[in-house]
Amino acid sequence: RGKRAFIAGVADDNGYGWAIAKSLAAAGAEILVGTWVPALNIFETSLRRGKFDESRKLPNGSLMQITKVYPLDAVYDRPEDVPEDIKKNKRYAGSSKWTVQEVAESVKQDFGSIDILVHSLANGPEVSKPLLETSRNGYLAAISASSYSFVSLLKHFVPIMNPGGASISLTYIASERIIPGYGGGMSSAKAALESDTQVLAFEAGRKYKIRVNTISAGPLGSRAAKAIGFIDKMIEYSFANAPIQKELSADEVGNAAAFLVSPLSSAITGAVVYVDNGLNAMGVGI
Ligand code: NAD
Repeated sequence: RGKRAFIAGVADDNGYGWAIAKSLAAAGAEILVGTWVPALNIFETSLRRGKFDESRKLPNGSLMQITKVYPLDAVYDRPEDVPEDIKKNKRYAGSSKWTVQEVAESVKQDFGSIDILVHSLANGPEVSKPLLETSRNGYLAAISASSYSFVSLLKHFVPIMNPGGASISLTYIASERIIPGYGGGMSSAKAALESDTQVLAFEAGRKYKIRVNTISAGPLGSRAAKAIGFIDKMIEYSFANAPIQKELSADEVGNAAAFLVSPLSSAITGAVVYVDNGLNAMGVGI
């Protein structure tokens, strides 16, 4: 039987989540996605109206099929955690069962199990502020949406993951090197995500035979990255300084993710894998 993947963090056809979905679909996996509640309507409408058909094309000419789209807000674990103002918000009121626990329950009800869990989401409300000017709330919100969201997803999905399965997340080198402009505690959030990758690899490996890795991806002009404001500069910098001088395509990250959740990488876990044209290996810009 083919593998089944749940990919959290797909809301358009520009980001890494979409590219990972395509690579997994091309390798024969069944695709389920989790889409941030406020972005759900426009994503589903665009899908239905064929707006993504061109980018749904797989190498064999067929179109990627998304079996089901689940509304998800990965900063809430259970219904009782959702504050009143969010419950009443009209962008949330039209959807239901979108906390992490409820989504895992729905996927279990609908499909029984999954093999692959992908975390391709991040959010830092103060990302454009330097760390020194970041509020406590902004910092904690970045960690909640970008780091604990992975702990929570794995915690709730791992009981329905088949042994031998794997998970992957996306991180950024700002966790370990100074990248001015990646603020609001987002650098801290990525450091937590990378450290958690190791601890969770041990825990999920021992208890469930599940592998946990993260991809440290180079810069991509996704919707999230454009919101940070410095992405064009980062793409230019990478092009100028990386060992491989080309623009990074989302598909290259998608393909590496497909490898890291496949049996081809059965001995790789707890790793940060760089998919960045080698930029991480440079000591100076030239
Ligand atoms: P993207 O906009 O395609 O993906 C981010 C997604 O997160 C969006 O779909 C958004 O709706 C979703 N999201 C935000 N808050 C959420 C929440 N609370 N619950 C559920 N979903 C939520 O952008 P992307 O750049 O492809 O980001 C995917 C991952 O790649 C992120 O972890 C990001 O940090 C990482 N990354 C990006 C770059 C880059 O240059 N774009 C580089 C390295 C790592």
